[in-house]
Amino acid sequence: MADYKIETLSVQGGYTPENGEPRTLPIYQSTTYKYDSADHLGDLFDLKAGGHMYSRISNPTLECVEKKISDMEGGVGAMLVSSGQAANLTAVLNIASAGQNIVAMASIYGGTVNLFAVTLKKMGIETRFVTPDMTDEEIEAHIDENTRLFFGETVANPALVVFDIERYAALAHKHQMPLVVDNTFATPVLCRPFEYGCDIVTHSTTKYMDGHATVVGGCIVDSGKFDWSIGGRYPELTTPDESYHGVVYTESFGPAAFITKARVQMLRDMGNTMSPMAAFLLNLGLETLPLRMERHCSNALAVAKFLESHECVDWVDYPLLESNSQYELAKKYLPKGACGVISVGIKGGRAAATKFLDNLKLFNIVVHVADARSCALHPASTTHRQLTDELLTACGVRPEQVRLSVGIEHIDDILADLDNALRA
Ligand SMILES: *Cc1c(COP(=O)(O)O)cnc(C)c1O
Repeated sequence: MADYKIETLSVQGGYTPENGEPRTLPIYQSTTYKYDSADHLGDLFDLKAGGHMYSRISNPTLECVEKKISDMEGGVGAMLVSSGQAANLTAVLNIASAGQNIVAMASIYGGTVNLFAVTLKKMGIETRFVTPDMTDEEIEAHIDENTRLFFGETVANPALVVFDIERYAALAHKHQMPLVVDNTFATPVLCRPFEYGCDIVTHSTTKYMDGHATVVGGCIVDSGKFDWSIGGRYPELTTPDESYHGVVYTESFGPAAFITKARVQMLRDMGNTMSPMAAFLLNLGLETLPLRMERHCSNALAVAKFLESHECVDWVDYPLLESNSQYELAKKYLPKGACGVISVGIKGGRAAATKFLDNLKLFNIVVHVADARSCALHPASTTHRQLTDELLTACGVRPEQVRLSVGIEHIDDILADLDNALRA
C-alpha cells in the first residue's frame, strides 16, 4: 500500500478489510483487549509480541489512521495524540529533559511559542529562538552540546514564512541532532519534509487533515532515518530503559526507535491519547485531503491575486505571489500550492479592517483556520487585543491586518463576498 500515490493512500491507506469485514474503518470503542493466555499478555508487556494492551497506549482504529498518515508522509511509523500541542510537547520530551535546550524558529505558531518559551522552561528545558535572516554561524552560536533538536514549521502559522528545510536539516545534522518540522499548514499533500532531510514531522490534525473543524488532534511521524547512536548523544534511545525491563529502543525497534519510545514511554506516562471516535472523524477528513488542498490552494491564489489589484487593499501576503519575499522558497517546497491562509492589509487601518470583517457574509469570523468553510480573523482586535499599535508592530501583527482562511466554496462566491465587504 505504501507505494501508492498520496491521493490513493488518503482514501484507501491504513485499513484493508479481509473477506466479509466492514468496508469502512470501524470505531473500536474499547479500552481493553482479550487474550487466550497470561503468557501472551506477558509478552505484550515485555514488548516481545505486537498487539494492543490498553487504549491509552494503542487502539486498532487509531492504528489504521496512524499507518495512513505515516505512509502519506513516507515515514516508518506514526502516533496520534490528543492535540497538535500534545504532538509537539511529546516529540520534544521524547529526547529532551531538564538542563537541556532546543533551537526553534521565532516565527512559529503562537501556541507553540508559549509551550516552548514558558511551559518547557518551567520543566527546565530552554528554547533558543532564531530567525531566517541569521547566517549559519549566527544560528550555530545558539547550539551547544546540550541542544537536542531543531524545530520549524513548513509554512508558519500565521506568519506564512516558508521554512528552508534543506538548509536547517544540514545545520541540525552537522550538530548531530534531528530536525523536527511541524507540517500542519502544508500537509503531506503540499510538502513531504522527509524528502528534504527532516527527521521527525508533527501535525495539528485539527487543521486541514480533519478539515471540517470537528475534532482536535495531533500526530507525530518518524522518518526512521536519524541515527540515534551518533556520538552517544541520545542515551534515552540507545541504553536500557529501566521503566521497560531494560529495553534498548534502537536495538529492539531499529529505525522505529523514536516513535516506539514515544508511545510505550511518553504516551504511557503522560496519557495524552486520542479517542477512537476522534480518530474515525479524522480519517473521514483524510480521505478527501488531497482534493480539498487542491481547491484551498487554487482558491487562495486567486483571492491573493484579486486582493493584490483591489483599490481598497494596502498589501497582500501569500507565499506564492511573485511579489512575495517567500516566493522562491515557496516554489521549491510548495510547488502544488501554499495552503489557504492569506494575510491582507485593508486601506484605512484598524477601523477599516474591522468594518471589512463585519461586512463579510460567506466568510465567518472564527478563531480557527484550515476549515472547508472560508473564515476570517482580525488579530489586532482579537488574539492580540491587549497590545497597543506599537507593540503589535513589534510582534509582526499590523493594525490593518486581516487573516483569511480561504475555504473550498466556489471562487466566484468567495471573490464577490470579499469585494462587497471591501467596498462597504
Ligand atoms: C493549531 C496549531 C498547533 C496546535 O494544534 P492544536 O491541535 O490546536 O493543539 C500547532 N502547530 C500549528 C502550526 C498549528 O497551526
